[in-house]
Amino acid sequence: MLSPHPELSIIVPVFREGAALFKAVPRIAACAQLATDSFELLLVDDGSDDDTWSCVCALSSEHSRIHGIRLNRNYGKDAAISAGLHRCMGSAAIVLDADLQHPPELIPEFFRLWKDQGFHVVEGVKRQRDDEPFVRRQCSRVFNHLALLSTGLDLRNSSDFKLISRQVIEAWERMNESRIFFRGMVEWLGFRKLQVPFDVAPSTRSASTFPAMKLLSMSARAIISFSSTPLRIAHLISAAFIAFGVVLGAEALFLRLTNRAVDGFTTVIVLQLLTGGLLLAILAVMSEYLSAIYDEVKARPRFFIAETAGLAQEAGDSIMHSMARTAGGSTGSH
Ligand code: UDP
Ligand code: MG
Repeated sequence: MLSPHPELSIIVPVFREGAALFKAVPRIAACAQLATDSFELLLVDDGSDDDTWSCVCALSSEHSRIHGIRLNRNYGKDAAISAGLHRCMGSAAIVLDADLQHPPELIPEFFRLWKDQGFHVVEGVKRQRDDEPFVRRQCSRVFNHLALLSTGLDLRNSSDFKLISRQVIEAWERMNESRIFFRGMVEWLGFRKLQVPFDVAPSTRSASTFPAMKLLSMSARAIISFSSTPLRIAHLISAAFIAFGVVLGAEALFLRLTNRAVDGFTTVIVLQLLTGGLLLAILAVMSEYLSAIYDEVKARPRFFIAETAGLAQEAGDSIMHSMARTAGGSTGSH
């Protein structure tokens, strides 16, 4: 009989992976087996609209250690990871991608570093991403530099390929925000950590499931959720403009008083355009924060579980999840 509390949980978010799972999952399971006999593999279907869930069910019925969780719709990878972390029972959990870009061969090494050397977070750091399109690589670079400047979190080359200990999972469960960013939040938690470099393998899929626009909006959300620096920069720029306005105003007054005023039509138009643009830009930054606050105030559950495979269905799973979040936030217990 399998232990309800395995040593290791492997969490794989899956979205529109389909039959590719029949190749990827046995390879991941074989690598987990090399680390320990006591493991479970959780495939979290993030509301795929193809045959992914039936593939997960087939894998789960073939192997007693493989379980499936299906979210009722697509919430995004971070929510899928959150669902896996919520339901996993292991003393440590490893999160990795289904398209084999995170080499499962590193699972035994991650496991050893946690078990023998006591690291609470073992994180895979990308060594190179040759297969990535140029524009996408530059976008990641800009985002990581902006994140470092504004939040102080060093996410350069970081990835979601991580092992985290039970202690970190419990700390993670107590973070109440609705807008989640797995990588950044684990970095913020700051437990004893080791970085392990890895080469990003080519994806088993032809295209990423993240279109460039989605990536851009996720990056903006991540920075807004972690830092109020953009708000402060907006204030600094507006202060600079006010100072500029005061100088110009003083000059105009001086010219007027000394009867040297000229027809400053161009200046007026340019100033008006600049001020209008600046006000709109500041309003845009503020509205981003307003929408972040709006999301957090609603405190909606991060996900709803539609069904599970190979796991006992917990009645009102996600309702319990949202209650746990509220209790954790208000009482500080857990
Ligand atoms: N994924 C997910 N939900 C989504 C998009 C992606 O669970 O809405 C999963 C996907 O199945 C894969 C992982 O997240 O296991 C990474 O996705 P992808 O390979 O498309 O991202 P990239 O390699 O471009 O970062
Ligand atoms: Mg990928």
